[in-house]
Amino acid sequence: MKTIHDYNFKGKKALVRVDFNVPLNSDLQITDDSRIRAAIPTIRQVLAGGGSPILMSHLGRPKKGPEEASSLKHIRGRVEELLGAPVKFAADCIGTIAREAVDNLQPGEALLLENLRFHPEEEKGDENFARELASLGDLWINDAFGTAHRAHASTAVIARFFPDDKLFGYLMNAEIESVDKVMLHPDRPFTAIMGGSKVSSKIDIIMNLLDKVDNLILGGGMVYTFMKARGGHVGDSICENDKLDLALQIINAAKEKGVNLVISTQTVAADSFSNEANTRVVDPMNIPDGWTGMDIGQLTRDAFAKVIETSKTILWNGPVGVFEFPNFAAGTRAVADAIVKATGRGAFSLIGGGDSVAAINQFGLADKVSYVSTGGGALLEYIEGKELPGIAAIRD
Ligand code: AMP
Repeated sequence: MKTIHDYNFKGKKALVRVDFNVPLNSDLQITDDSRIRAAIPTIRQVLAGGGSPILMSHLGRPKKGPEEASSLKHIRGRVEELLGAPVKFAADCIGTIAREAVDNLQPGEALLLENLRFHPEEEKGDENFARELASLGDLWINDAFGTAHRAHASTAVIARFFPDDKLFGYLMNAEIESVDKVMLHPDRPFTAIMGGSKVSSKIDIIMNLLDKVDNLILGGGMVYTFMKARGGHVGDSICENDKLDLALQIINAAKEKGVNLVISTQTVAADSFSNEANTRVVDPMNIPDGWTGMDIGQLTRDAFAKVIETSKTILWNGPVGVFEFPNFAAGTRAVADAIVKATGRGAFSLIGGGDSVAAINQFGLADKVSYVSTGGGALLEYIEGKELPGIAAIRD
């Protein structure tokens, strides 16, 4: 397999599938540019080698063709800023507009193509659309980990047209390396912390993790489904009544596999779902009606921290409380602090999947853990043990 380190880019036009699907506010300003930052090393490598990167991405969920709010032209300025070089823009990703822009591109210049999803063929994985994209470049680099779980035209199908000239970008390499380190060769003890609102969205991951981890810490809203399954009373807390059997299955599977299951024993409950609510510390097995479990209590923070701080490999997905409300962020902050401490002592820590990434960024601790993944769904599917089309397309 060719690699980005040693590929000769001189005079080549490199189609780079990046993930510039960044959040925009109502003024179309970027509110978090982490995904753009993450793609810069690969773009620089192509430029440094004398090649021309042709950047392609999706943005948002346009369903009916082109729309102003999802145009990648809003992203271009930030790419230029972070790259420190001009980036040209083509107002379509295929057809004459794209062709002319590519023909005019000189070695050492970068070009950004308009949103791939302005063409429905992208998400359908249409072969002709992939062929048109492929005709614009001499090679294909996949650096879009965030969409690696999708078999779309630009993320997987396009590989057919570059049997000998397809590469992973630096971001893809780093993401794959860090997940493989955790899932295939973890130093022990290996602890996974799973939080978030619902157990239903995490069930496959939890089941897969039970075969790998020494400790499984469960926090967040999903805990109340476990409490109810054990015969507890959860008041007004979030609870999936149709998943009680599943929660019991997880508890039993953990026992069978000898996994130390660590679940919250103390909850900070609120009398309404708001930051200003009145609070009281309660037993999660016995929450009064009218009260909602919002965060883990101090005893549970200490218990979680003790397990985390003595771990050698840590995977964290999902906040253990409603951290978006500052008054209920302390539990999630305690988890983050413990991970930082363990990392300082030599543990490998991987944070991934949506809200735990938002939390670690909000606390300003992202550079004190080993790796923060850019992939939400893609990371979770990879941890579930699924083969991701965007990875398979390069390896096959
Ligand atoms: P998920 O997308 O499933 O990882 O869930 C993340 C969300 O779970 C965050 O927005 C948190 O606010 C939310 N969450 C965490 N703990 C609780 C809780 N005790 N009750 C309700 N929502 C929670």
